[in-house]
Amino acid sequence: MAAPRKLASFRLPPLPTIGEVIKLYNLRAEKQLSQNFLLDMKLTDKIVRQAGNLKEAHVCEVGPGPGGLTRSILNAGAADLLVVEKDTRFMPGLKLLSEAAPGKVRIVHGDILNYRMDRGFPSSIIKEWEDVPPDLHIIGNLPFSVSTPLIIKWLENISNRTGPFTYGRTRLTLTFQKEVAERLTASARSRQRSRLSIMAQYLCTVKSCFTIPGRAFIPKPEVDVGVVHFTPLARPQIEQPFKVVEKVVRNVFQFRRKHCRKGIEMLFPAAQRLELAEVMMREADVDPTVRPMELSIPQFRTLSDAYARLCTSDPALLTYDFREELRLKHLGRKMGKPPGTLGDTVDPHTQKPL
Ligand code: SAM
Repeated sequence: MAAPRKLASFRLPPLPTIGEVIKLYNLRAEKQLSQNFLLDMKLTDKIVRQAGNLKEAHVCEVGPGPGGLTRSILNAGAADLLVVEKDTRFMPGLKLLSEAAPGKVRIVHGDILNYRMDRGFPSSIIKEWEDVPPDLHIIGNLPFSVSTPLIIKWLENISNRTGPFTYGRTRLTLTFQKEVAERLTASARSRQRSRLSIMAQYLCTVKSCFTIPGRAFIPKPEVDVGVVHFTPLARPQIEQPFKVVEKVVRNVFQFRRKHCRKGIEMLFPAAQRLELAEVMMREADVDPTVRPMELSIPQFRTLSDAYARLCTSDPALLTYDFREELRLKHLGRKMGKPPGTLGDTVDPHTQKPL
């Protein structure tokens, strides 16, 4: 029997360097758009290696800019690379790259925050959620101002299996400001443990890959950069709607130095606050004097489950937002009403207005 024919590995033909492309098309980094370019191909290759095997893979690169990371993705053997770039100045350089890799690069001029990735790839690549991840990867070195809202949006998409996760458990390799990368991967009791740690880790295996010093970018940003890899979990650690988990986690972390009881109480209207918070913590088997950053994800699971049960008995709880109450109180003060007349909120322990 004839041996299977090996696919010749693809290498880009000789091209002007990224530095030359930047000069050729006059691609000065726009400070306003927080553009910081990576010109060192050893570093872009290293980022791409974190994504795993890209041979014949489908890839979406977000914010390709002058195309350094894009070249590394193509050299790693991606068969179908969709790039989404907001800044029109990069289009000619990206076209040059797509001509050097015929049939492999699709260029979208648009904003990744609005782009419908569920329509970007063939349905033939879809995998069942519990199956292995699809052969689709998202890779990007985005401005910090975009990467944080984007990961929150994508975490919600993971929870609902929408957007890029219509295809299954699509993996992500993204850069963040080092401090944000640390928060995403922080374990219980670490100083960086925060809302972002819980929201990312209940839905994904989150791996901190390596740190890129700020000086590797042009122009140099104020901070270092962390590369983070996400694989959505086949079974999320908390099986409640994203908005419910988000509300519990947000409330718990709003008083991050206090006992967790304080944030949990704020999930409930003043009149029921102490009673329902106690029921919730008892049902969740959580010690009220534990600090938010000491809570484990299984503890956030029991807390979210207990909160969801209370909301089933009284659906109005779900829409209760104590900050709205504070806003009304503030409004009442402005209108000259005495405290306690217009949505006034008091600390249930001290009875002082909050
Ligand atoms: N990937 C390139 C690199 O590593 O050298 C460029 C990195 S630069 C930090 C971020 C890139 O993302 C820029 O090209 C910028 O124009 C693009 N970008 C910023 N916001 C974007 C958005 N909302 N959607 C798509 N691209 C965006």
